[in-house]
Amino acid sequence: MLRVSTDNTLIIPAELVAKLGARPGDVISPEVEEGKLVLTPVVEPEKQTPSSVQESINRKNLETPVQFIKGVGPKLAEILGKKGISTVEDALYLLPNRYEDRRQVVPIAKLRTGETSVFQGEVVSADVVATKGGRRFFEVVVRDGSGTISFKWFNFNPAIIKKVWKPGQRGIFTGQVAQYGFQKEVHHPDVEWLAEGDDLAAVMARDPVNFGRVVPVYPLTEGLHQKTLRKVMRGVVERFAPCVESALPPEVAKSQGLMPLAEALQWVHFPGGDVEPKGIEEGKDPAHRTLVFDEFFFLELGMALKKRGVTLEPGIAFSVNHTYTKPLLKLLPFALTGAQRRVLAEIKEDMMAPHPMHRLVQGDVGSGKTLVALMAALVAVENSYQVAIMAPTEILAEQHYLNIHRWCDELGVAVVLLTSSLKGKVKKEAMARVAQGDAQIVIGTHAVIQEKVEFQRLGLGIVDEQHRFGVIQRGLLRKKGENPDILVMTATPIPRTLAMTVFGDLSLSVIDELPPGRTPVETRVCYENRRQQVYGIIREEVAKGRQAYVIYPLVDESEKSDLKAATQMAEHLANDVFPDLRLGILHGRMKPEEKEAVMRSFKGRELDILVATTVIEVGIDVPNATVMVIEHAERFGLSQLHQLRGRVGRGSEKSRCILMTPGKLTEDGEKRLRVMESTTDGFRIAEADLEIRGPGDFLGTRQAGLPDFRVANILRDGRILEEARKEAFAVVERDPDLKQSEHVKLRAELARRWGGRLELAGIA
Ligand code: ADP
Ligand code: MG
Repeated sequence: MLRVSTDNTLIIPAELVAKLGARPGDVISPEVEEGKLVLTPVVEPEKQTPSSVQESINRKNLETPVQFIKGVGPKLAEILGKKGISTVEDALYLLPNRYEDRRQVVPIAKLRTGETSVFQGEVVSADVVATKGGRRFFEVVVRDGSGTISFKWFNFNPAIIKKVWKPGQRGIFTGQVAQYGFQKEVHHPDVEWLAEGDDLAAVMARDPVNFGRVVPVYPLTEGLHQKTLRKVMRGVVERFAPCVESALPPEVAKSQGLMPLAEALQWVHFPGGDVEPKGIEEGKDPAHRTLVFDEFFFLELGMALKKRGVTLEPGIAFSVNHTYTKPLLKLLPFALTGAQRRVLAEIKEDMMAPHPMHRLVQGDVGSGKTLVALMAALVAVENSYQVAIMAPTEILAEQHYLNIHRWCDELGVAVVLLTSSLKGKVKKEAMARVAQGDAQIVIGTHAVIQEKVEFQRLGLGIVDEQHRFGVIQRGLLRKKGENPDILVMTATPIPRTLAMTVFGDLSLSVIDELPPGRTPVETRVCYENRRQQVYGIIREEVAKGRQAYVIYPLVDESEKSDLKAATQMAEHLANDVFPDLRLGILHGRMKPEEKEAVMRSFKGRELDILVATTVIEVGIDVPNATVMVIEHAERFGLSQLHQLRGRVGRGSEKSRCILMTPGKLTEDGEKRLRVMESTTDGFRIAEADLEIRGPGDFLGTRQAGLPDFRVANILRDGRILEEARKEAFAVVERDPDLKQSEHVKLRAELARRWGGRLELAGIA
């Protein structure tokens, strides 16, 4: 009798252990053979080797170049190398992207459409067939006791294929089944021939990698046969997976219910008999969870250390004395929203602490981030520190300047605009004011972080629309002062999981409330045939004294053909469609003075229609504009469309956004645009965008510093990410420098995974 204890372990009585020939402390390997549990004591040769030596041997093994793997010749090594697989470890992490259930041989009559199955039968006929349309294909008909199925090849060499497929032969076939009318078909199946008198079961048993199990299907097999790769992988996994050691703290692995890393790898490549292929494909399997957790854990451990490093450094402890903030609130014609007040309180708390602030403020378009930034800036100014506000484009910097300097003039705070288009004497003067500290708030583009710019006493750096700058710029801005506070603002709602991976070292504040009195923008997708109606809408609104935007995509500001299309469109609208209306054009290649002049006249209602490229995407604020027509809406990302749309609906009037497309969208394309019709919630749009485009495209991977995951998928594995983050932050909380002896391994592994990247934060 064996008892399962309450913690789910099997209790084996001492006399039974003795009978097995095992001693206490020995490892016993359980295996199921013919339905019986067989227990074998394992003699561990590693016991003699000190574990650190064993570890370094394992490490070396994992770094073995692929060409030394059995079955990998120079040619295969080259193919793999091109796919980024140069070591054994790379190969181990080349995971199957799906699995085929080949546990059973299915009778032909029971084959299910869409599934890849294994079946057997006899070739009844094999010949070239010509269709009425003159196309030729090679067709084979196969029969078992239950029915028939047809195989087809559309690209084939008749001489070769006829030698392989001959009537009367028996084989085991594998392929994805399709159904056309009453006929079941498989296109170019795999075959394993049975010789005369061969027993089906015996043949299958001879090839345990490909039959009688759930088999892996690998990605990246272009120029490489699936079977070949599967065989190589089998060898790699058997020989090298045991060398992979978990570096996770054992208590974390235990509380998360993780498998040893080596086992998890073995399992995802060659899952055991009772696995549910769908579950493992969807990443719901414990093995997958183990690998994903491991990957996320080290990412978040790095984030935790970075964040900890920042917060432990000495910083400026500002005091909140209301010299400017109170008067500003009095000047405003409105009260702060609840969300603005809450976020501001979070920022103030950080600013008062004697450590550098490192906070990300997320707020949908129009949620009033500029004001929050200004309030924070004034706290720094009250403490006789300077503030730098960095925006991604000149237009946005200029607009921030106009907005902020309007209030600051009344408060008696000096604001300076610093962009790269400032030239000569004007620029020198501006820089001198920054260096001498006369400029209390400096607003600009990346010009602000250029080497020559010196601040007298920078206390706070604010980065607007962070994801366009990236981590490096943040670092450079910090260097302009002595551990200044950093506030990052983004209007691109970033799904929480993505924010945790990209901005995981920042604290997060969310402005999740719009100022009152806004009516949601009504959005419609319109095809080309409704163009005249769309023009009618613009005309109507203008007749009511409102203004309109017509946005043209300019994929690349330097792309001449796009620019031409945009300017031609403007001319066409001005001359042929709205000759009686006042029309302006705005694009990225105009001189800053020109752009500003156009913007100013649009703001001043001297223009009815503004034809613009995406340069107006961020920040532009003209409450009287109530219509936005976006041409070629299908070319924009959803988040970008959301940003653009945020330019209307800023007043109390009802606003409209019309997404023009030339028609004939792909199913995905249509689905994307319909999301815009159905919601104005930036977070939902961001989630949808992320789902459709994938994380790399969503942020522009490299720039944003988004790590490349080997196993994890942040869309699918968001929950595991949350768990991993919690555990990683807890470890750093307990042992901030990972100095404790049980964390030696952890620290080494962290350094290996992060490479030089932690250095930026001064950690590794
Ligand atoms: P965004 O978050 O997109 O940068 P802005 O800061 O440009 O938003 O604010 C959008 C508009 O809302 C501006 O005209 C601003 O003056 C106004 N605004 C900001 N806060 C409030 C508020 N609490 N109540 C009313 N209007 C506000
Ligand atoms: Mg803004």
